[in-house]
Amino acid sequence: MSMNTFKLNSQDRTSLAAFLRDLVQIPSPSTKEGAVAARIVAEMERLGLRDARVDQMGNVVGWIGPGHGPVLMLNGHMDTVRVSDPEAWSREPFVAAREGDVLYGLGACDMKGGLAAMVYGAKLLRDAGVALKGDVVVACVVQEEPCEGLGSRVLFEEEKIRPDWVVLGEPSNLNVCRGHRGRLEMCLVIRGRSAHAASPALGDNAIYTAARLVFGLELLAGQLGNDDFLGPGTLAVTQVTSRASSRNAVPDHCELVIDRRLTLGETETKALAEVQGVIAREGVRAEVEVTEYQATSYTGHDCRAREFYPAWVMAEDHPLVIATAAAVRAQLKRRPQITRWDFSTEGTYTAGVARIPTVGFGPGDPRHAHTADEHIRLSDVYAAAEVYARLAMELLGTE
Ligand SMILES: [Zn+2]
Repeated sequence: MSMNTFKLNSQDRTSLAAFLRDLVQIPSPSTKEGAVAARIVAEMERLGLRDARVDQMGNVVGWIGPGHGPVLMLNGHMDTVRVSDPEAWSREPFVAAREGDVLYGLGACDMKGGLAAMVYGAKLLRDAGVALKGDVVVACVVQEEPCEGLGSRVLFEEEKIRPDWVVLGEPSNLNVCRGHRGRLEMCLVIRGRSAHAASPALGDNAIYTAARLVFGLELLAGQLGNDDFLGPGTLAVTQVTSRASSRNAVPDHCELVIDRRLTLGETETKALAEVQGVIAREGVRAEVEVTEYQATSYTGHDCRAREFYPAWVMAEDHPLVIATAAAVRAQLKRRPQITRWDFSTEGTYTAGVARIPTVGFGPGDPRHAHTADEHIRLSDVYAAAEVYARLAMELLGTE
Protein backbone atom coordinates (compact mmCIF):
# COMPACT_ATOMS: atom_id res chain seq x y z
CA MET A 1 0.00 0.00 0.00
CA SER A 2 0.99 3.63 -0.36
CA MET A 3 2.75 5.02 2.69
CA ASN A 4 1.23 8.41 2.03
CA THR A 5 -2.06 7.69 3.76
CA PHE A 6 -3.68 5.00 5.84
CA LYS A 7 -7.27 4.23 4.96
CA LEU A 8 -9.72 1.83 6.61
CA ASN A 9 -11.55 -0.12 3.91
CA SER A 10 -15.30 -0.51 4.07
CA GLN A 11 -15.05 -3.93 5.72
CA ASP A 12 -12.76 -2.49 8.42
CA ARG A 13 -15.20 0.36 8.99
CA THR A 14 -18.09 -2.03 9.37
CA SER A 15 -16.25 -4.18 11.88
CA LEU A 16 -14.89 -1.16 13.77
CA ALA A 17 -18.44 0.25 14.09
CA ALA A 18 -19.74 -3.16 15.27
CA PHE A 19 -16.90 -3.38 17.80
CA LEU A 20 -17.69 0.09 19.14
CA ARG A 21 -21.39 -0.77 19.40
CA ASP A 22 -20.48 -3.85 21.45
CA LEU A 23 -18.28 -1.75 23.75
CA VAL A 24 -21.12 0.72 24.34
CA GLN A 25 -23.66 -2.06 24.90
CA ILE A 26 -21.50 -3.64 27.62
CA PRO A 27 -21.77 -1.44 30.74
CA SER A 28 -18.39 -0.72 32.35
CA PRO A 29 -18.74 1.56 35.38
CA SER A 30 -15.44 2.01 37.24
CA THR A 31 -14.28 -1.25 38.94
CA LYS A 32 -16.71 -3.27 36.79
CA GLU A 33 -14.82 -3.24 33.49
CA GLY A 34 -14.34 -7.03 33.23
CA ALA A 35 -16.81 -7.77 30.43
CA VAL A 36 -15.59 -4.89 28.27
CA ALA A 37 -11.99 -5.98 28.88
CA ALA A 38 -12.80 -9.50 27.67
CA ARG A 39 -14.46 -8.09 24.53
CA ILE A 40 -11.38 -5.97 23.78
CA VAL A 41 -8.98 -8.90 24.27
CA ALA A 42 -11.11 -10.97 21.87
CA GLU A 43 -11.01 -8.21 19.24
CA MET A 44 -7.25 -7.76 19.63
CA GLU A 45 -6.73 -11.51 19.13
CA ARG A 46 -9.06 -11.57 16.12
CA LEU A 47 -7.17 -8.66 14.52
CA GLY A 48 -3.73 -10.19 15.10
CA LEU A 49 -2.32 -8.10 17.94
CA ARG A 50 0.08 -10.19 19.99
CA ASP A 51 0.13 -11.03 23.72
CA ALA A 52 -3.35 -9.57 24.23
CA ARG A 53 -4.13 -10.03 27.91
CA VAL A 54 -5.54 -8.67 31.14
CA ASP A 55 -3.05 -7.61 33.83
CA GLN A 56 -3.32 -7.95 37.63
CA MET A 57 -5.43 -4.80 38.00
CA GLY A 58 -7.67 -5.58 35.02
CA ASN A 59 -6.03 -3.34 32.42
CA VAL A 60 -5.86 -4.75 28.87
CA VAL A 61 -2.72 -4.62 26.72
CA GLY A 62 -2.05 -5.87 23.20
CA TRP A 63 1.01 -5.38 21.01
CA ILE A 64 2.27 -5.14 17.47
CA GLY A 65 5.87 -4.83 16.34
CA PRO A 66 9.13 -6.76 16.63
CA GLY A 67 9.20 -7.09 20.45
CA HIS A 68 12.21 -4.82 20.93
CA GLY A 69 13.12 -1.19 20.37
CA PRO A 70 11.23 1.96 21.35
CA VAL A 71 7.60 1.69 22.47
CA LEU A 72 4.63 3.85 21.54
CA MET A 73 1.72 3.45 23.96
CA LEU A 74 -1.81 4.23 22.77
CA ASN A 75 -3.62 4.74 26.07
CA GLY A 76 -7.32 4.90 26.86
CA HIS A 77 -9.72 3.99 29.66
CA MET A 78 -12.43 1.34 29.63
CA ASP A 79 -14.56 2.65 32.50
CA THR A 80 -17.39 5.14 32.24
CA VAL A 81 -19.22 7.31 34.71
CA ARG A 82 -22.68 6.11 35.76
CA VAL A 83 -25.90 7.27 34.11
CA SER A 84 -26.59 10.33 36.24
CA ASP A 85 -30.12 11.19 35.10
CA PRO A 86 -31.82 8.52 32.94
CA GLU A 87 -34.76 10.90 32.40
CA ALA A 88 -32.48 13.32 30.57
CA TRP A 89 -31.59 10.76 27.89
CA SER A 90 -33.74 10.65 24.77
CA ARG A 91 -31.98 7.42 23.66
CA GLU A 92 -31.24 4.43 25.86
CA PRO A 93 -27.67 4.75 27.21
CA PHE A 94 -26.73 1.10 26.49
CA VAL A 95 -28.52 0.45 23.19
CA ALA A 96 -25.83 2.11 21.04
CA ALA A 97 -28.41 3.53 18.64
CA ARG A 98 -26.90 4.51 15.31
CA GLU A 99 -28.38 7.41 13.35
CA GLY A 100 -26.46 7.85 10.12
CA ASP A 101 -22.88 8.67 11.06
CA VAL A 102 -23.67 9.22 14.75
CA LEU A 103 -23.55 6.59 17.49
CA TYR A 104 -25.30 7.32 20.79
CA GLY A 105 -24.60 5.82 24.18
CA LEU A 106 -22.87 6.11 27.52
CA GLY A 107 -19.13 6.07 26.91
CA ALA A 108 -19.43 6.47 23.12
CA CYS A 109 -17.41 9.68 23.35
CA ASP A 110 -15.62 9.20 26.71
CA MET A 111 -13.98 7.09 25.56
CA LYS A 112 -14.97 3.84 23.91
CA GLY A 113 -14.74 5.58 20.52
CA GLY A 114 -11.10 6.34 21.25
CA LEU A 115 -10.42 2.76 22.41
CA ALA A 116 -11.94 1.29 19.25
CA ALA A 117 -9.90 3.71 17.13
CA MET A 118 -6.67 2.70 18.89
CA VAL A 119 -7.25 -1.02 18.40
CA TYR A 120 -8.01 -0.46 14.71
CA GLY A 121 -5.08 1.95 14.33
CA ALA A 122 -2.83 -0.91 15.42
CA LYS A 123 -4.60 -3.24 12.99
CA LEU A 124 -4.11 -0.79 10.10
CA LEU A 125 -0.41 -0.51 10.82
CA ARG A 126 -0.02 -4.28 11.09
CA ASP A 127 -1.92 -4.89 7.83
CA ALA A 128 0.24 -2.33 6.03
CA GLY A 129 3.26 -4.55 6.65
CA VAL A 130 5.46 -1.58 7.53
CA ALA A 131 8.85 -2.64 8.91
CA LEU A 132 8.93 -1.32 12.49
CA LYS A 133 11.95 -0.64 14.67
CA GLY A 134 9.82 -0.76 17.83
CA ASP A 135 6.44 -1.70 19.25
CA VAL A 136 2.99 -0.22 19.57
CA VAL A 137 1.16 -1.23 22.74
CA VAL A 138 -2.55 -0.52 23.00
CA ALA A 139 -3.26 -0.03 26.72
CA CYS A 140 -6.86 0.06 27.96
CA VAL A 141 -6.93 0.98 31.63
CA VAL A 142 -9.48 0.68 34.44
CA GLN A 143 -10.78 3.20 37.03
CA GLU A 144 -9.68 6.34 35.16
CA GLU A 145 -12.83 8.24 36.05
CA PRO A 146 -12.36 8.11 39.85
CA CYS A 147 -8.54 7.89 39.95
CA GLU A 148 -6.84 8.97 36.74
CA GLY A 149 -3.34 7.62 36.27
CA LEU A 150 -3.63 4.65 38.63
CA GLY A 151 -4.05 2.11 35.81
CA SER A 152 -1.06 3.54 33.97
CA ARG A 153 0.96 3.45 37.18
CA VAL A 154 0.33 -0.29 37.47
CA LEU A 155 1.29 -0.82 33.80
CA PHE A 156 4.54 1.12 34.25
CA GLU A 157 5.59 0.10 37.76
CA GLU A 158 4.16 -3.40 38.21
CA GLU A 159 3.93 -4.69 34.64
CA LYS A 160 7.20 -2.94 33.69
CA ILE A 161 5.93 -1.50 30.41
CA ARG A 162 8.05 1.59 29.80
CA PRO A 163 6.87 3.50 26.73
CA ASP A 164 8.97 6.17 25.03
CA TRP A 165 5.85 8.06 23.96
CA VAL A 166 2.23 8.03 25.12
CA VAL A 167 -0.79 9.10 23.09
CA LEU A 168 -3.99 9.54 25.10
CA GLY A 169 -7.16 8.87 23.10
CA GLU A 170 -9.53 10.97 25.22
CA PRO A 171 -11.86 13.11 23.10
CA SER A 172 -10.08 16.11 21.58
CA ASN A 173 -12.19 16.74 18.49
CA LEU A 174 -9.23 15.40 16.48
CA ASN A 175 -7.09 18.26 17.79
CA VAL A 176 -3.81 17.85 19.64
CA CYS A 177 -3.80 18.40 23.42
CA ARG A 178 -0.47 19.01 25.09
CA GLY A 179 -1.45 19.31 28.75
CA HIS A 180 -4.04 19.94 31.40
CA ARG A 181 -4.34 21.14 34.99
CA GLY A 182 -3.77 18.80 37.89
CA ARG A 183 -6.06 17.92 40.76
CA LEU A 184 -5.76 17.54 44.50
CA GLU A 185 -8.54 16.31 46.75
CA MET A 186 -8.31 17.36 50.36
CA CYS A 187 -10.36 16.60 53.45
CA LEU A 188 -10.64 19.21 56.18
CA VAL A 189 -11.60 17.78 59.56
CA ILE A 190 -13.03 20.14 62.19
CA ARG A 191 -13.36 19.05 65.80
CA GLY A 192 -15.78 20.79 68.18
CA ARG A 193 -17.33 19.88 71.50
CA SER A 194 -20.73 18.35 71.95
CA ALA A 195 -23.42 19.71 74.27
CA HIS A 196 -27.18 19.41 74.61
CA ALA A 197 -28.74 21.54 71.87
CA ALA A 198 -30.87 23.15 74.60
CA SER A 199 -27.66 24.64 76.02
CA PRO A 200 -25.54 25.24 72.89
CA ALA A 201 -23.29 27.74 74.66
CA LEU A 202 -21.79 24.81 76.59
CA GLY A 203 -20.54 23.27 73.35
CA ASP A 204 -18.35 24.26 70.42
CA ASN A 205 -20.37 23.78 67.23
CA ALA A 206 -18.20 22.19 64.54
CA ILE A 207 -20.65 23.34 61.83
CA TYR A 208 -20.22 26.99 62.84
CA THR A 209 -16.44 26.60 62.66
CA ALA A 210 -16.81 24.88 59.29
CA ALA A 211 -18.90 27.79 58.02
CA ARG A 212 -16.16 30.28 58.89
CA LEU A 213 -13.60 28.06 57.12
CA VAL A 214 -15.84 27.71 54.06
CA PHE A 215 -15.99 31.48 53.83
CA GLY A 216 -12.19 31.70 54.13
CA LEU A 217 -11.84 29.05 51.42
CA GLU A 218 -14.17 30.99 49.13
CA LEU A 219 -11.93 34.03 49.53
CA LEU A 220 -8.84 31.89 48.92
CA ALA A 221 -10.41 30.58 45.70
CA GLY A 222 -10.31 34.09 44.27
CA GLN A 223 -6.57 34.47 44.84
CA LEU A 224 -5.04 31.39 43.19
CA GLY A 225 -2.27 31.21 40.63
CA ASN A 226 -2.71 31.47 36.88
CA ASP A 227 -0.92 30.02 33.87
CA ASP A 228 -1.37 31.55 30.43
CA PHE A 229 -1.78 28.18 28.74
CA LEU A 230 -3.50 26.00 31.35
CA GLY A 231 -5.61 28.70 32.97
CA PRO A 232 -6.09 29.44 36.68
CA GLY A 233 -5.98 27.13 39.65
CA THR A 234 -9.42 26.67 41.20
CA LEU A 235 -10.86 25.54 44.51
CA ALA A 236 -14.34 24.27 45.32
CA VAL A 237 -15.79 22.89 48.52
CA THR A 238 -17.73 19.89 47.19
CA GLN A 239 -19.04 18.15 50.30
CA VAL A 240 -19.95 18.94 53.89
CA THR A 241 -20.73 16.23 56.44
CA SER A 242 -21.22 16.56 60.17
CA ARG A 243 -21.71 14.24 63.08
CA ALA A 244 -23.57 14.62 66.35
CA SER A 245 -24.88 12.06 68.81
CA SER A 246 -28.42 13.15 67.88
CA ARG A 247 -30.25 15.95 66.17
CA ASN A 248 -30.68 17.68 69.50
CA ALA A 249 -26.96 17.72 70.22
CA VAL A 250 -24.31 20.21 69.15
CA PRO A 251 -22.15 18.45 66.50
CA ASP A 252 -18.57 17.81 67.55
CA HIS A 253 -17.29 16.80 64.12
CA CYS A 254 -17.55 18.28 60.63
CA GLU A 255 -15.70 17.42 57.44
CA LEU A 256 -15.26 19.42 54.24
CA VAL A 257 -14.10 17.89 50.97
CA ILE A 258 -12.15 20.30 48.78
CA ASP A 259 -11.58 19.82 45.04
CA ARG A 260 -8.51 21.81 44.07
CA ARG A 261 -7.45 22.13 40.43
CA LEU A 262 -3.74 22.87 40.16
CA THR A 263 -2.32 24.99 37.42
CA LEU A 264 1.33 24.86 36.40
CA GLY A 265 3.64 25.68 39.30
CA GLU A 266 1.07 24.79 41.97
CA THR A 267 2.30 21.92 44.09
CA GLU A 268 0.62 19.74 46.65
CA THR A 269 2.66 21.46 49.38
CA LYS A 270 1.55 24.91 48.24
CA ALA A 271 -2.12 23.90 48.04
CA LEU A 272 -2.05 22.35 51.53
CA ALA A 273 -0.22 25.35 53.00
CA GLU A 274 -2.86 27.74 51.62
CA VAL A 275 -5.63 25.81 53.38
CA GLN A 276 -3.56 25.64 56.57
CA GLY A 277 -3.26 29.43 56.30
CA VAL A 278 -7.06 29.74 56.30
CA ILE A 279 -7.26 27.51 59.39
CA ALA A 280 -4.55 29.55 61.17
CA ARG A 281 -6.26 32.87 60.38
CA GLU A 282 -9.50 31.62 61.94
CA GLY A 283 -7.57 30.20 64.89
CA VAL A 284 -9.71 27.06 65.03
CA ARG A 285 -9.11 23.37 65.68
CA ALA A 286 -8.97 21.75 62.26
CA GLU A 287 -6.67 19.60 60.15
CA VAL A 288 -6.35 19.22 56.40
CA GLU A 289 -5.03 16.19 54.59
CA VAL A 290 -4.95 14.68 51.12
CA THR A 291 -7.68 12.06 50.73
CA GLU A 292 -6.91 8.47 49.81
CA TYR A 293 -8.59 6.60 46.97
CA GLN A 294 -9.39 2.98 47.77
CA ALA A 295 -11.16 0.44 45.58
CA THR A 296 -11.04 -3.23 44.65
CA SER A 297 -10.73 -3.91 40.94
CA TYR A 298 -12.82 -6.53 39.15
CA THR A 299 -9.80 -8.84 39.30
CA GLY A 300 -9.62 -8.47 43.10
CA HIS A 301 -6.61 -6.13 43.05
CA ASP A 302 -6.45 -3.73 46.00
CA CYS A 303 -6.15 -0.22 44.52
CA ARG A 304 -4.93 2.70 46.61
CA ALA A 305 -3.66 6.14 45.76
CA ARG A 306 -3.30 9.54 47.39
CA GLU A 307 -5.58 11.88 45.50
CA PHE A 308 -2.86 14.07 44.04
CA TYR A 309 -2.66 14.35 40.28
CA PRO A 310 -0.05 16.80 39.00
CA ALA A 311 -0.55 19.23 36.13
CA TRP A 312 1.51 18.68 32.99
CA VAL A 313 2.39 20.51 29.80
CA MET A 314 4.44 19.48 26.78
CA ALA A 315 6.30 22.22 24.93
CA GLU A 316 4.61 23.36 21.73
CA ASP A 317 7.74 22.42 19.78
CA HIS A 318 8.30 19.03 21.43
CA PRO A 319 8.98 16.40 18.71
CA LEU A 320 5.95 14.33 19.78
CA VAL A 321 3.61 17.32 19.54
CA ILE A 322 5.04 18.16 16.12
CA ALA A 323 4.82 14.55 14.92
CA THR A 324 1.20 14.22 16.07
CA ALA A 325 0.17 17.46 14.36
CA ALA A 326 2.00 16.34 11.21
CA ALA A 327 0.17 12.99 11.24
CA VAL A 328 -3.17 14.82 11.48
CA ARG A 329 -2.23 17.13 8.59
CA ALA A 330 -1.05 14.23 6.44
CA GLN A 331 -4.15 12.09 7.05
CA LEU A 332 -6.96 14.59 7.45
CA LYS A 333 -5.65 17.37 5.22
CA ARG A 334 -6.21 20.00 7.85
CA ARG A 335 -4.19 21.75 10.50
CA PRO A 336 -5.20 20.69 14.03
CA GLN A 337 -5.48 23.11 16.92
CA ILE A 338 -2.70 22.64 19.45
CA THR A 339 -4.63 23.01 22.66
CA ARG A 340 -5.23 21.71 26.20
CA TRP A 341 -7.87 19.69 27.96
CA ASP A 342 -10.06 21.20 30.68
CA PHE A 343 -10.35 17.84 32.42
CA SER A 344 -7.78 15.48 33.90
CA THR A 345 -6.53 12.26 32.24
CA GLU A 346 -4.01 9.41 32.59
CA GLY A 347 -1.47 12.04 31.48
CA THR A 348 -1.30 13.15 35.09
CA TYR A 349 0.75 9.98 35.68
CA THR A 350 2.40 9.34 32.28
CA ALA A 351 3.61 12.94 31.87
CA GLY A 352 3.11 14.47 35.34
CA VAL A 353 4.76 11.70 37.38
CA ALA A 354 6.64 9.37 35.00
CA ARG A 355 7.78 12.23 32.74
CA ILE A 356 7.18 10.29 29.52
CA PRO A 357 6.45 12.51 26.49
CA THR A 358 2.65 12.49 26.22
CA VAL A 359 0.06 14.04 23.91
CA GLY A 360 -3.69 13.80 23.59
CA PHE A 361 -5.48 13.06 20.38
CA GLY A 362 -8.88 11.41 20.08
CA PRO A 363 -12.25 11.35 18.34
CA GLY A 364 -15.30 13.02 19.82
CA ASP A 365 -16.18 16.39 21.27
CA PRO A 366 -15.16 16.62 24.93
CA ARG A 367 -18.30 18.68 25.61
CA HIS A 368 -20.35 15.52 25.05
CA ALA A 369 -18.52 13.56 27.77
CA HIS A 370 -20.48 12.91 30.98
CA THR A 371 -23.69 14.27 29.43
CA ALA A 372 -27.09 12.85 28.50
CA ASP A 373 -27.32 11.68 24.87
CA GLU A 374 -23.54 11.26 24.74
CA HIS A 375 -22.58 10.50 21.14
CA ILE A 376 -19.75 10.37 18.62
CA ARG A 377 -19.37 10.61 14.86
CA LEU A 378 -18.17 7.31 13.42
CA SER A 379 -16.28 9.18 10.69
CA ASP A 380 -14.20 10.79 13.46
CA VAL A 381 -13.47 7.37 14.97
CA TYR A 382 -12.25 6.10 11.57
CA ALA A 383 -10.15 9.25 11.11
CA ALA A 384 -8.56 8.80 14.55
CA ALA A 385 -7.63 5.17 13.77
CA GLU A 386 -5.93 6.32 10.58
CA VAL A 387 -4.02 9.08 12.39
CA TYR A 388 -2.82 6.64 15.10
CA ALA A 389 -1.45 4.34 12.39
CA ARG A 390 0.21 7.23 10.65
CA LEU A 391 1.79 8.59 13.82
CA ALA A 392 3.08 5.12 14.76
CA MET A 393 4.66 4.79 11.33
CA GLU A 394 6.30 8.22 11.66
CA LEU A 395 7.76 7.30 15.06
CA LEU A 396 8.61 3.64 14.46
CA GLY A 397 8.90 3.12 10.70
CA THR A 398 12.35 2.20 9.47
CA GLU A 399 12.33 4.32 6.27
ZN1 LIG B 1 -12.30 10.08 29.71
